Amino acid sequence: MTIQPVSPDPSISQDLLAAGRQAYDLDRSHVFHSWSAQGALDPMTIVKAEGSHVWDGQGRRMIDFSSQMINTNIGHSHPAVVSAIQEQAAKIATIAPAHVNDARSEAARLVAELTPGDLDHVFFTNAGAEAVEHAVRMARLHTGRPKVLSAYRSYHGGTDLAINVTGSARRFASDRGAAGVAHFFPPYPYRSAFHAETPEQETERALDHLEQVIQLEGPGTLAAVILESVPGTAGIFVPPAGYMEGVRELTRKYGILFIADEVMVGFGRTGRWFGVDHWGVEPDLLTFAKGVNSGYVPLGGVAISGEVYATFTDRAYPGGLTYSGHPLACAAAVATINAMQDESMVANAARIGTEILAPRLRELMGSHRSVGDVRGLGAFWAVELVKDRTTKEPMAPYGGASGEMGALAAECKKFGLLPFVSENRLHIAPPLNTPDEVLHEGLDILDQALAVADEHAAG
Ligand code: PLP
Repeated sequence: MTIQPVSPDPSISQDLLAAGRQAYDLDRSHVFHSWSAQGALDPMTIVKAEGSHVWDGQGRRMIDFSSQMINTNIGHSHPAVVSAIQEQAAKIATIAPAHVNDARSEAARLVAELTPGDLDHVFFTNAGAEAVEHAVRMARLHTGRPKVLSAYRSYHGGTDLAINVTGSARRFASDRGAAGVAHFFPPYPYRSAFHAETPEQETERALDHLEQVIQLEGPGTLAAVILESVPGTAGIFVPPAGYMEGVRELTRKYGILFIADEVMVGFGRTGRWFGVDHWGVEPDLLTFAKGVNSGYVPLGGVAISGEVYATFTDRAYPGGLTYSGHPLACAAAVATINAMQDESMVANAARIGTEILAPRLRELMGSHRSVGDVRGLGAFWAVELVKDRTTKEPMAPYGGASGEMGALAAECKKFGLLPFVSENRLHIAPPLNTPDEVLHEGLDILDQALAVADEHAAG
């Protein structure tokens, strides 16, 4: 059955559309956007967001397979979280971090309870990059060592230190080479840096490589290895069996801290509360943001192990933020986590991954010659587009965009699907509670839209 282009939803009022047009004009006159050449921008206006859908400036309803920035894990406008924010605003809208606040205390308790091992104390930040900044600072102070190791094809945030820790092309324009970071190759079986032919070889060789990097950089200079437990923005690379456990062992062997960056996958995205839970790995520090409260109010943080915490029992921690543990953000976190538990959203993410996303995306790989690889876990999948399956030539260059990928994204939107596009990939990351029929509807649109990419693929 051919899907027709999506038309404006008659329930969206003319007033709402007029307000959207005015917002667009003001945006183009005054808003400076992230990661973009400002002149070429034509951003999509969103006039309404509910559950797994958003409505664009023409009133067209779109299925949100991006969860915005992979953060609306519980979907848009969850009533329990909206009420919690409203109630907290009426009670105490803001308070200095030095004072005790019930929303912050309960949010910290929940994070401590859900995170693995003895990550029992939480330092709250406003978002993910700040969490990375503070985790690295804690690791340096704890070990007395200056450097961190991070993976190529990683993303750790847009602030000065976090962007220098980042291992993707987003770093290049801000790379000062002075942040005390060395990078290593992580596993990526589809384009193995180690010429591996099996996942077992990839794990073994990637760990051997990491150990060599540790030795060559000098273990006594290394404060931490920071690793996304499932690297996200740079390509959604699920580590092959044994890799994460191996990294944990190596970091213990050399007295280096292990920072798990769970900003994107924490709070259920991969079908477990945290990515590291898939491998039973207990990091020394764990960074989180996004899913902790579905991004309804900015919030991030670092969960801290007993050993690192002990460094700061008598010695002051030299860092802080005016809004650390902001009550509105923490009340949203408490309500989000409770809603996720009450509605079994993490188990649902695992189920939709196994029952819907994995089989249907693999089917798409079978029927579309432009799809070179699909990979993922839970509600977190990458579809990698190539011009030629034999040479694996990507449909867009590393660190760049292409007309072909732009055309694919436009085709998805035309039929009512909002995708997340990065380089030569589509990232499929719907809210964890997206109804099955909506997932199928979105995948049907993707199936039809991929014909546009197939035109540019050999075979
Ligand atoms: N770390 C990871 C793994 C991320 O995916 C991101 C953002 O996408 C960040 C850190 C930075 O988070 P934020 O944009 O909230 O500062």
